[in-house]
Amino acid sequence: MAWRLRLDAALEPFCSRPLQSLQIEVLSALRIGAFQLLVLDTPAHAAVSATVDACPPRARPFVNAVLRRLAAEGEPRDLPPWIAQSHPRELWDRWSARYGAAGAETLMRWDNSPPDLGCWCPSREVEGAPGRYLEGYRYFERSGRLDPSGMEGIYVQDEGAAVVASGAASLPGETVLDICAAPGGKTAHLASKGGTVLSIDSSVERMGLWKENARRLGWESCHPVVADCTALPVSSADRVVVDAPCTGTGVLRRRTDARWGFSAGLLARCTAVQAALLDAAAECVRPGGSLVYSVCSLEPEESTMQVSRFEDAHPGYRRAEFPAPGVLVRDGMLCIFPPEHGIDGHFAVRWERMS
Ligand code: SAM
Repeated sequence: MAWRLRLDAALEPFCSRPLQSLQIEVLSALRIGAFQLLVLDTPAHAAVSATVDACPPRARPFVNAVLRRLAAEGEPRDLPPWIAQSHPRELWDRWSARYGAAGAETLMRWDNSPPDLGCWCPSREVEGAPGRYLEGYRYFERSGRLDPSGMEGIYVQDEGAAVVASGAASLPGETVLDICAAPGGKTAHLASKGGTVLSIDSSVERMGLWKENARRLGWESCHPVVADCTALPVSSADRVVVDAPCTGTGVLRRRTDARWGFSAGLLARCTAVQAALLDAAAECVRPGGSLVYSVCSLEPEESTMQVSRFEDAHPGYRRAEFPAPGVLVRDGMLCIFPPEHGIDGHFAVRWERMS
């Protein structure tokens, strides 16, 4: 639940016991009630009575009393920005040091905004507003209903992810290694180029989703493999695309709970795996071929610092301009900052192998 920290700060003054000592059903009911009062602006009588009716009978008087007081007295004023915007302190510290307090707050507001819904659909006409950056992208209206027959042949993804995928897409006929492939957001674009694609991921479960997508979308010449890509089972390809696991700080608007998993430890584990994946991938690109690296993170350790490390370790590679609209590209690299560009935050870089 994205708003958890703010909701708990609002509930605490009215609870006689620490929130963490409450039964999970009772705590969840309080949070749902507070969410209706503070975020959805549901009229107080409706929010309180609906929540009380849905909670375990013995907890009803307590939940009723706490929510009524919250409705009458409101939440504390002058909450620190990371609590008001419900993000871990650690992210606030990092982002305010990098973007300034106003920039960090704007980014946190973005994370709390409802995500757009859209698809990359180059080969058929789909009703919807055009993409901001990509031809062949369409935004759906959020009507709450999606007609399954209208989903045929389309891959739902954020326009930021589609910008990465279309920039990573191979030239017609190339042999491609699609590394960290599941559930197939990049494969959807690679498959449309008609080359041979080997899509590899270490997760059996996520490759199951890839296979469902492959069936639904009729990906031809795309072959699924479950393997650890830090030791690749292939020795040469025209193009290698590494869509690495990361902290996901660019897509918190969509993965609302991921903010609570962020930690220095996670960041260190992700950067280590990214480096290992890149080093393994570098061995597989044929001379004259290309390597693409992408993450959906805003953290320099996973993007520009990873690029510097790679370029120091692999002098046979030369950075090439990432093919994407110029406004999204800095020093040849795709750097999407959500509040500025209006789409999910992604980073991508492309190198050519010289020797
Ligand atoms: N490319 C996918 C897409 O566009 O739909 C998203 C990939 S997601 C960002 C990262 C993926 O890396 C996860 O599916 C995860 O299972 C996979 N992964 C993590 N560590 C891996 C490893 N050592 N080898 C192969 N895949 C790995």
